Amino acid sequence: MTEAKSKTDPSRRAFLAGATVAVAATIVGGLKPRAARAAGENLPHLSDSDAMAKALAYTPNHNTISTAKYPMYKPGDHCSICRFFKGTPGEKSGYAACQIYPGYSVDAEGWCESFSARS
Ligand code: SF4
Repeated sequence: MTEAKSKTDPSRRAFLAGATVAVAATIVGGLKPRAARAAGENLPHLSDSDAMAKALAYTPNHNTISTAKYPMYKPGDHCSICRFFKGTPGEKSGYAACQIYPGYSVDAEGWCESFSARS
């Protein structure tokens, strides 16, 4: 009788529902940082004054590139459509890791001479 009562006890059901929500929130909350780390958005932003960035003409804004100075640049090319970008393909803002600049994140709207379009 006590066992049967406890299965239908509203306070027990409320506790279990709350615990389920808490576990789900913990799991979802834990996924975002892992995903962010995988994409590298928490890495320091690459500066165009960095020596390696200068060597490959990295800029955080592809709209400022002179096609006269960099004829290999095709208008519209930018990091988030580059095969080396680790973030979401085609995203319009934010930062993510780039295979060419380990330890740094690059601007989704950036560009450098290593650009290679995703296939
Ligand atoms: S290699 Fe691609 S993703 Fe990396 S900085 Fe250059 S253009 Fe951007």
